[in-house]
Amino acid sequence: MSRDFIDLVDGAVRLRLDEFIAPVVRRSGGSLFELVVAVVLSQNTSDKNAFKAFENLKRRLGEITPEAIRVLPERELAELIRPAGMHKQRSRRLKALAEAFMTSEITPAKLINMGAAEARRLLLGLPGVGKKTADVVLVNVGLPAFPVDTHITRIARRWGIGRTYDEISRWFMDRLPPERYLEFHLKLIQFGRDVCTAKKPRCAMCPVGPRCPSYKG
Ligand code: SF4
Repeated sequence: MSRDFIDLVDGAVRLRLDEFIAPVVRRSGGSLFELVVAVVLSQNTSDKNAFKAFENLKRRLGEITPEAIRVLPERELAELIRPAGMHKQRSRRLKALAEAFMTSEITPAKLINMGAAEARRLLLGLPGVGKKTADVVLVNVGLPAFPVDTHITRIARRWGIGRTYDEISRWFMDRLPPERYLEFHLKLIQFGRDVCTAKKPRCAMCPVGPRCPSYKG
């Protein structure tokens, strides 16, 4: 499978960064805990819904800290994050994360110092944090990781790159410089939302076009 596919998508997609909650939170000076909360809010829902839930929390709490989440009544927390869906389950998850953060005192600097592999292990030990969530956090604090979401999985399978999370993540990591992991991860998601959509992919306007094994002319 050709590395050219990366260049074709890279050249065609103009990234709309403000549509992605994790980099927006990170770049606006959000803490590591706020970043993790944002990523948990975006699990299994759109960034648009996650933004609404996150903004509700910000309006109510100011800074979203583990202590503030811990003392917030669970019912109120669930109401605030309702726009993200599965609000009761998600509020329990945020409560558990707040407890974990209060005992571990993790910071971006500590994660960076321990390196990607150990930082990933630490994040994976937190409640409700799987591979994708851990990798989104890592790449947004500047550590090398290539998170694979549903859009990227679909595109990678259509390109014939691989089928599993680890295969797909590794394929991109092997072909991009680490400083481009975050940007290209976001570009691929945007490409999946706009062009290589789940239903009726827009192959006629796709920069990869007939070179793609799944092209439908
Ligand atoms: S040619 Fe079609 S299936 Fe292949 S990447 Fe482009 S939009 Fe997706």
